[in-house]
Amino acid sequence: RRGIRRISTGVKSLDELLGGGIETKAITELVGEFGSGKTQLCHQLSVMVQLPEDKGGLKAKALYVDTENTFRPERIMQMAKYRGLDPQEALKNILYARAYNSDHQMMIIEESKKIIEKENIGLIVIDSLVAHFRSEYPGRENLAERQQKLNHHIAQLLRIADIYNVAVVVTNQVVAQPDVFFGNPLKPAGGNVIAHGATYRVWLRKGKENVRIAKIFDSPYHPEREVTFRITEEGVVD
Ligand code: ATP
Ligand code: MG
Repeated sequence: RRGIRRISTGVKSLDELLGGGIETKAITELVGEFGSGKTQLCHQLSVMVQLPEDKGGLKAKALYVDTENTFRPERIMQMAKYRGLDPQEALKNILYARAYNSDHQMMIIEESKKIIEKENIGLIVIDSLVAHFRSEYPGRENLAERQQKLNHHIAQLLRIADIYNVAVVVTNQVVAQPDVFFGNPLKPAGGNVIAHGATYRVWLRKGKENVRIAKIFDSPYHPEREVTFRITEEGVVD
């Protein structure tokens, strides 16, 4: 992919793992159990994208699509202050959209093209990508329709990422695999559609106290190495 740009996560080890940060023209999926730091990383990247290039950003704005009502302006302001940005300005540079259901979520992304053409957007966040789809299309009988819609949504995101040279970061939940007796009993939700649609998949899990562990999975280009980081008052840090 030509002309790709990178956004630093603000965490050295995580940037190294990702080959320099989150890429534009790609979808990066953050997957992990509750409290693993997905939303915290989404907040942090919405701040980091605003930094100048020499500080790891794109000097651009973020579009934040929130499906679970977990966006916290105060948290953005804390992180912005620590990164040397004006907290109020940083908050203004995050265009916030609350998605109330899966159709609304897809419509927001469809409409986002107009915003990206007008504003200098470097990052699109969807936290969470799959939650509405999972609750609205439960069970095997709705699986085909759900996966078809998700597939359309992800293809749309990838197209936008590519055309406008923006980074897309989505979060995903983990689900139990009751038939697995050895190895990891958890797997990402969304099945093959997300597995094939996401360019990079980052698995997050909790360590002791504020420590979190990240690894890239499903990638032929990345080593299955684990790195650790912490979540503190300052945000997501080494
Ligand atoms: P879910 O699946 O429930 O959405 P998640 O992966 O999005 O979970 P986050 O909300 O990113 O999880 O992480 C929450 C955790 O981040 C908290 O449990 C806490 O440990 C940490 N955290 C959040 N805010 C702060 C803060 N101001 N100071 C220190 N740690 C914090
Ligand atoms: Mg969350």
